[in-house]
Amino acid sequence: MLGPLLLTASRSDRLRRIVAASPLTRSTVDRFVAGEGLEDCLTAVRSLTAAGLDVTLDHLGEDVTDRAAATATRDAYLRLLDELAPLGLGGRAEVSVKLSAFGQALGEGGHDIALEGARRVAEAATAIGTTVNLDMEDHTTVDSTLAILDELRRDHPGTSPVIQSYLFRSEDDCRRLAAPGSRVRLVKGAYKEPAHVAFQDKAEVDRAYVRCLRILMEGGGHPMIGSHDPRLIEITRDLARRTGREAGSYEFQMLYGIRTAEQHRLVGEGERVRVYVPYGTDWYGYYMRRLAERPANLLFFLRSFVPG
Ligand code: FAD
Repeated sequence: MLGPLLLTASRSDRLRRIVAASPLTRSTVDRFVAGEGLEDCLTAVRSLTAAGLDVTLDHLGEDVTDRAAATATRDAYLRLLDELAPLGLGGRAEVSVKLSAFGQALGEGGHDIALEGARRVAEAATAIGTTVNLDMEDHTTVDSTLAILDELRRDHPGTSPVIQSYLFRSEDDCRRLAAPGSRVRLVKGAYKEPAHVAFQDKAEVDRAYVRCLRILMEGGGHPMIGSHDPRLIEITRDLARRTGREAGSYEFQMLYGIRTAEQHRLVGEGERVRVYVPYGTDWYGYYMRRLAERPANLLFFLRSFVPG
């Protein structure tokens, strides 16, 4: 019940202003966000990669409403890639972009504006030996995002999409994307979706995840298991054994600040693990989705408003 309410709240500008203005929110946001500045992000990159983890970096922001903001997003990623270059991490440090922050929803020309911005970022990523991941947002954006993926992959084949198991269409998308060389992140899905496009029941979403996972693990691509769910992690490792996949031919991905001990445990057992590291000032939507995933996080957040 709380989850859907929080997801609705994640799209409210009024609440965004109230929550973001409270100094008390800050301490709870820090658990999920590496910091507001580029230097904070780079500090996290250095420490995570030194511990054997790979990273994918998200300059926070989504749903921009004008072209200047879309350009600012693109430029923020270009600065990030500039700063990553001297670290020499190559594909160990990739970037994750939300196309809505590149202008995807700017009416008529939005798709092309987002494509051009993402193309510039993909060129800069390729130049330093790394790749771009296209995060997946609500279901209305999937066709446009996958079309942009196809365009970018012509010159930048390492570009990856995210497939959300809660969408009915995703098994078909996985079949199409499970080709040699294709990197695909599989997640359950974090948006509030209507019943005509997505499973509403958690157990059904989990079962759909396993069906998609099987397609990707049995295919020739590089599956990226974006989940903290212990059961799905075990199923992945079991499928890897059964399909004869070596560690490194697939990878686990988890969010910054969530199940950190598990991230280290898997690396210790020889698995490849990539941490999704968000940074920047526009953390509201991202943060609210993390609260929605786990009611206990909301209690933690509300407690920060109680004095003493
Ligand atoms: P759950 O069943 O939700 O959680 C399993 C366990 O993980 C929980 O019991 C708890 O221990 C822990 N856990 C999960 N979430 C939290 C949390 N917020 N706080 C504390 N503990 C938690 N979604 C999209 O729609 N589009 C994307 O592009 C996208 N990219 C992602 C990238 C990565 C690397 C990851 C890990 C997730 C991404 N997601 C994305 C979010 C995803 O869709 C899920 O909402 C999220 O991962 C929670 O699902 P779960 O698989 O971890 O399983």
